[in-house]
Amino acid sequence: MDYLTKLNDKKAEIQKIIQHKQELLSHSLMETSDELSAYDQHPADTASETYEREKDHGLLELYELELEKLNDALERYQDGKYGICDTCGEPIDPKRLERMINTTLCYKCAQARQDHFRGPAEEDITADHAMADRGEAFTIAGYDIYDE
Ligand SMILES: [Zn+2]
Repeated sequence: MDYLTKLNDKKAEIQKIIQHKQELLSHSLMETSDELSAYDQHPADTASETYEREKDHGLLELYELELEKLNDALERYQDGKYGICDTCGEPIDPKRLERMINTTLCYKCAQARQDHFRGPAEEDITADHAMADRGEAFTIAGYDIYDE
């Protein structure tokens, strides 16, 4: 499968997830405003629902960042720059691209950047984590995070 097909597939997948999450969020917001006018609220339920909603909001933001990075990658593909390291201009290892389809850095440059950027230990949102080798990098929202 070529990279363009993979990028478009991944984009469609993420867009579907975002749409689904947005629907869920708007649905639960409506439910909440209904509940606010009711007197028989169960505080415990409300608290856990609020927590779930906040978690969904956070995930939604990560997915939106992921989508942004995919759009960038598609643009780079159109410009003939896809698979070329943004920093040193060397070709990125195809195995690395397989694992992190929207990466813009080769392994070496990603590692160098990692010295300056320490990502938050967010839970993974894509299959990239599951596919990452032990000690290898995986991507959340375009940042190369090292599994330590
Ligand atoms: Zn590089």
